[in-house]
Amino acid sequence: MSSHAKPSAKPALPRPEALRKSLLGWYARAQRDLPWRRNPRLYPVLLSEFMLQQTRVDQALPYYARFLQRFPTLKDLAAADLGAVMKLWEGLGYYRRAGFLHETAKRLAPVQEPGVAELAECPGIGPYTLAAIGSIVWGARLPVVDGNVNRVLARLLALEDFPQSKAGKAAILARLQEWIPEAAPGDWNQGLMELGATVCTPHAPKCGACPWQAFCSAHALGRVEDFPKVEPKAARPHKHAAAAVIRRKDGRILVAQRPAQGLLANLWEFPGGLLLKEETRAAGCARAVREQLGVEIRVDESLATVEHGFSHFTLTLHFFSARHLKGAPEALRCQAWNWLKPSELRRLPFPRAHWPVLEKLAPEAK
Ligand code: SF4
Repeated sequence: MSSHAKPSAKPALPRPEALRKSLLGWYARAQRDLPWRRNPRLYPVLLSEFMLQQTRVDQALPYYARFLQRFPTLKDLAAADLGAVMKLWEGLGYYRRAGFLHETAKRLAPVQEPGVAELAECPGIGPYTLAAIGSIVWGARLPVVDGNVNRVLARLLALEDFPQSKAGKAAILARLQEWIPEAAPGDWNQGLMELGATVCTPHAPKCGACPWQAFCSAHALGRVEDFPKVEPKAARPHKHAAAAVIRRKDGRILVAQRPAQGLLANLWEFPGGLLLKEETRAAGCARAVREQLGVEIRVDESLATVEHGFSHFTLTLHFFSARHLKGAPEALRCQAWNWLKPSELRRLPFPRAHWPVLEKLAPEAK
């Protein structure tokens, strides 16, 4: 493996033409056959880029196919109801992306020939997405920077700075701006990301199959595994929450829709909330439901305990079965509420952490 290579001097960086030729040639030969690559027009690329933020390709593929089947064009997506978009997105996580995708479709669909300027104004379009879509669809010479690209460049340059630091970002961007070709900037960007995803992987990179092996400083120094430099991360805090499957006498179950902003925006859930340190789970569950919907419940037995990770914290979610005692629901800390038959629950998009309970209540559904 490369890290065992005999240490030698850092090679001088090659001319940009040599880097371009080797990467583009490798990408033409070795790229994975992905559906959006067969059809690099705005809608398929937009869809794939929104889905691939924070999600692996193999997880995104079935969602991509379902979206195209249900909403074959940008106009179809723009005309869709947000609830239907969220429902189709269910399980993919980072739900704000679904709202941004829908809003972006609504803004771009009426434009005759949208371009980089129009895309830049859309919600959820940061420098990465703009560069990726802009270069692939319109041939804009905008370099992409993502985790894969950072890793490849950090190794190629044997970069001693953290890639996320100010100096690290500047060093990487300066090189990319210099190297990105006039012709086929989209293939260049995709080639770089593909190299990081399939060859220059975080662990055990396959340097023998790398088109840049001869140019790579980390490889020449025998220090591949030393790069990229990793900043020590603060541990994610852990939180506990409780949620109740609240039944009415007629068997219907109370569900609430989360606020339009913030974590898991617009999704539906079994009511509840975060637990405070000093309260029992059952008491905290009843308190959270009261604050969310203004109803009194009797908390009965535990139904399930689910562990879930978010980007900034991890969560243990305790589910209880419960009885409705009194009070008509009010949307105090939610957008809306509803009493549903168990068979109706699956019409609504729920966060992944609620799926084990949904499976118990509506087993035919998932
Ligand atoms: S850029 Fe190529 S040679 Fe360098 S570490 Fe990555 S896979 Fe190995």
